[in-house]
Amino acid sequence: MSELASGTETNVREAPRSSRPLEVIGRSSPSNAPPEERYEFFTVVQGYLDRAASIIGTPAYVQSILSQPKNELIVHFPVRMDNGEYRLFKGYRIQHSNILGPYKGGMRYHESASLDDFKALASLMTWKCSLMNLPFGGAKGGIKFNPREVSRAELQRITRRFFHALGGNIGPDYDIPAPDMGTNAQTMAWAMDTYVNTVGMVSKQAVMGVVTGKPITSGGTFGREKATGQGLVFCIQDWARRNHFDLEGKKLMVQGFGNVGSHTAVLLSHLGVSLVAVGDHTGYLYNPEGFNAHRLQSYVQSHGSIAGYPNGNAITREDFFSLQADIFVPAALENQVGVTEAEALQVKLVAEGANGPTTPDGERVLLRRGIEVLPDVIANAGGVTVSYYEWVQNRRSEQWDIEEVETRLREAMENAYSRVAHVALNAGCDFRTACYVVALQRLQQVYEEREIFP
Ligand code: NAD
Repeated sequence: MSELASGTETNVREAPRSSRPLEVIGRSSPSNAPPEERYEFFTVVQGYLDRAASIIGTPAYVQSILSQPKNELIVHFPVRMDNGEYRLFKGYRIQHSNILGPYKGGMRYHESASLDDFKALASLMTWKCSLMNLPFGGAKGGIKFNPREVSRAELQRITRRFFHALGGNIGPDYDIPAPDMGTNAQTMAWAMDTYVNTVGMVSKQAVMGVVTGKPITSGGTFGREKATGQGLVFCIQDWARRNHFDLEGKKLMVQGFGNVGSHTAVLLSHLGVSLVAVGDHTGYLYNPEGFNAHRLQSYVQSHGSIAGYPNGNAITREDFFSLQADIFVPAALENQVGVTEAEALQVKLVAEGANGPTTPDGERVLLRRGIEVLPDVIANAGGVTVSYYEWVQNRRSEQWDIEEVETRLREAMENAYSRVAHVALNAGCDFRTACYVVALQRLQQVYEEREIFP
């Protein structure tokens, strides 16, 4: 199905779409299509939990509590479009666990988003926050629609109606959204403003912490925008150090050139790593001499995609996955590296910027072929870690400088990496399983200390 053809789910009757011409950049070609394998993301993540639980002998009651989200909220809300017609939207907020602290996780605007994805992504946030020793639980949510199809004014009304519909189901001490695919600092500014104007509050400053990833002038923190890419780069540097792998002069491929993909490429370029291939929802480009990652990032920020960027040759998705490079960073959607892609990849490392980009079968092939994987649950945890710093600054009415944010992030990533590496070595398991073991150990200990109410 073309990306533009999909809309809200079938049980939602939509008002006719705006007559405004749709942007063709949303259309994906067959060569741009993800693997055909059947993929239930939530079942996949549950499988990782089961594997970790069997290694550390997690009690059945803990495993069963963590195998399902605590709350699954679905809201439908109407929005007036620019042409005066009304369209009904479907929004989700899945709250997986709050045993370690308030629910925490991004809001995704994407036409293919589903309940299954949000359940998987919410549980991933629980594992990520636990692994990073943050005082947060896990959540995820968003709206099933293509944000590229609507105007800025429509996007603002959709966001405000969504956060209004969520009402008291979010809050700075209860559930704290952040940006994810299709949302950004501007979305968070509208969300925070809507919440502040809806709930009534004692302290405006403290309530700002209802969302993170805000613009700096509206209560955001320095370093949040690039935080996920920065955390990923710290992780890659750690991996390189431990594997005596010199990053200087190495070649990089990135799939998805939005927030995570573009910041990762720019930061790696400062370390001498050359971006030779890049892809997004419009197609794939190759430049054996290396792209200027800064220039490509500015181009995408002003044009909305890599389409039409002059300094690269168009290649197919199949060609992209079989190129010779050193590091591959998937930073788009889940389910992108199946068996076919894993057999084709000619790299030494797959560092997961996206959530769930590698299927379990794909990962088995990668590991068999000696290609190492830095899994999402640690590799992209820099975003939520700096979100935590933003939340702390909002609570304390403080503004930390960029050096403080980066120093703390580097320490947090290195600390998590060494705990995971220790478990992987001692348990003789792969890195992803080791991440889940470390995360589950903390959660399990809390359940055993607090026990179950009443
Ligand atoms: P974004 O919206 O800024 O960028 C998404 C990119 O993916 C765009 O370049 C888009 O063109 C591309 N894309 C979409 N569909 C595609 C397709 N079918 N094929 C190839 N490319 C496609 O999103 P983002 O915030 O960079 O998030 C990317 C991934 O990283 C997601 O999996 C998200 O959950 C994960 N992530 C994001 C953050 C964060 O802080 N933003 C934190 C952790 C994890």
